Amino acid sequence: MTGANSGIGRAIALALAQSGAHVAVNFVVNPQQADGVVGEIKAVGVEALALMADVADPVQVAAMFAAVDLAWGGIDILVCNAGIDGRAAAAWDADPAEWGRVLDVNLGGAFLCAREALRRMIGQRAGVVLAVSSVHELIPWTGYSAYTASKAGLSMLIKTLAQEAAPFGVRALALGPGAIQTSINAAVWNDPKMYADLIAKIPLGRMGTIDEIAAAAVFLVSEQAAYITGTTLFVDGGMLDYPDFEHGG
Ligand code: BGC
Repeated sequence: MTGANSGIGRAIALALAQSGAHVAVNFVVNPQQADGVVGEIKAVGVEALALMADVADPVQVAAMFAAVDLAWGGIDILVCNAGIDGRAAAAWDADPAEWGRVLDVNLGGAFLCAREALRRMIGQRAGVVLAVSSVHELIPWTGYSAYTASKAGLSMLIKTLAQEAAPFGVRALALGPGAIQTSINAAVWNDPKMYADLIAKIPLGRMGTIDEIAAAAVFLVSEQAAYITGTTLFVDGGMLDYPDFEHGG
């Protein structure tokens, strides 16, 4: 589980633990937060490991999977959650290195982790790769061209992986949250004007919770979702339902 020490990642890690999974808690910053999540998971009665790795680095990713092999002899579920949105800037003002870093983490990181996981899952003819995407797989977002491009890319990466892996009984799919209250968007929900603007974009009239995303993630990686692959499930309070059209076109 990448990016598992905070926000949506932490909630998914805990929910998977509550469903009985041992969980590798990947992180790249804030090791004490990762240790905290490991403690919370162990309290549930399953095993947990904190594993530092930059998902954009193939060497660190390979070492992380080797550590999981050593601990548990393999992997059944990969959740690619690590993600950054980058500094807001119109494309013509954006810094190419910063732009590339968002792609490297959000899209490249998912590829590198899926590559390691699928090598193992194809061999054992079982497994699931779940990527945490976003409504911005489909919705353009001024100032965030790297983020939107990475999430749209993630969608096609997952569809292609699903096609490649299906003959081996392995699924690949994505979960697309809308506006979920975490630190990534704290600047928005801490500002009454920006918050009101955001809520107007959500037919259900509120931000989502990390637990609502975790519940969907647990379902998608479970046997109950055995027939779902190559697609994104959006959990967005209706954000993709064109709320502006409520009052006519
Ligand atoms: C972003 C959030 C944003 C949400 C809805 C997510 O992908 O990370 O910052 O609130 O999309 O726009």
